[in-house]
Amino acid sequence: MPETPDPAPSPVTLRGRSSAETRSAVLDLIRASGKISRVDLARRSALTEPTISKIVKELLSAGLVVQAGYAESTGGKRPMLLKLNDSGVYALGLTLDFHRSTIVVCGPDGSELARVSAGGTGEDDPRVVLDRLAGDIEALTAREGIDRSAVIGLGVASAGRRGFPQGWNVDASFFDVWEPYSVVEELAARTGYAVVRENDANCAALREYWVSKEPHRDFVTVYASHGIGAGIVVDGAIYRGSSGNAGEIGHTVAVPDGRLCWCGSHGCLETVASPRAMVEQVLADPALRAAVGVDGSTPIREVFRRLTSGAAKDDAAVRAMLERTAGYFASAVSDLVNTLDLDLVVLAGPGFAGVGDVFLEAAQARVATTGFMRELHPISVRLASIGSETAALGAASVVLQRHLTPHRTGPVA
Ligand SMILES: [Zn+2]
Repeated sequence: MPETPDPAPSPVTLRGRSSAETRSAVLDLIRASGKISRVDLARRSALTEPTISKIVKELLSAGLVVQAGYAESTGGKRPMLLKLNDSGVYALGLTLDFHRSTIVVCGPDGSELARVSAGGTGEDDPRVVLDRLAGDIEALTAREGIDRSAVIGLGVASAGRRGFPQGWNVDASFFDVWEPYSVVEELAARTGYAVVRENDANCAALREYWVSKEPHRDFVTVYASHGIGAGIVVDGAIYRGSSGNAGEIGHTVAVPDGRLCWCGSHGCLETVASPRAMVEQVLADPALRAAVGVDGSTPIREVFRRLTSGAAKDDAAVRAMLERTAGYFASAVSDLVNTLDLDLVVLAGPGFAGVGDVFLEAAQARVATTGFMRELHPISVRLASIGSETAALGAASVVLQRHLTPHRTGPVA
């Protein structure tokens, strides 16, 4: 470790590859700052004041930002503050999940204005589900008095992969039914809104970026739901990889020679540390079954709920199983930190319900005591929301980011 800490690094320039990209980055900085002066914009973007003045002039005349009073004087004239133009622009977000759907309405800064829970996809035909959800969306916007023309789009968060050939052996029936189905086109036809679809881990990561006043530009959100995925944020935008499927850490190997995963590898993280995998471990072990108080007829969700509730977690065998599982998870987090030189990993998603503390402690301990990066800088691991609304809010943020800063947004479905 160095004896004296390095001075604070100078800001990385926000100059993009084109003037439109630079403009997007400056608009994103205004959004994240709430209110900010031209001088502070120049300082934080490492762009020159004339460049900032030119961009701000364009943003003001396009109606994307507005004046927002004046800051305190630091000697001379009081500097004018700028903020995002937040009048009459809304984005909708939706999670598409088996048991429950969540619909949210967000303002232009990503703030949540309204939320409702709706029925999940269940075993119903996708057409029936989407008819129902389109009705729920219509009812919510009507209830909130939101004019259709003010809604810039609907983001849909769902687990899922892109570009899989039909018939690929994805084990969950949810994918079998929904993957070939064009949710984007069908929902657009039913609601009349522009629809974008994004996987839930990326949505959760983008949400984290949008709600932070001083956002990290490079971090990872690990999202646990049915499976385990990672939303990788690089320079303030989602990193997608060559086919749009980056972040499948659920299919990194946790147990060499472990159980065969549907992806063809053995011992993938998802086969040992997803909620389903933990439930399977309980059901396969008589001692764990007894400790958790379940048998073969207990519904899977109920097994997970009992496993992660207070009483069962006090049992030594259950504790040992959870800690072993959390250890596999911590290894995957440590690999991410070392691969991407991260100083922040955020955990989110309903798969952490009841076990978030165990997984968090294991990951924090691992990155603090082992690995290359710990000698170079602090590494923060923290738990964000375990609610599925995180993904819905993130889906609305995807819509907002495409609208406000399109040059920072990669292709989404
Ligand atoms: Zn796998």
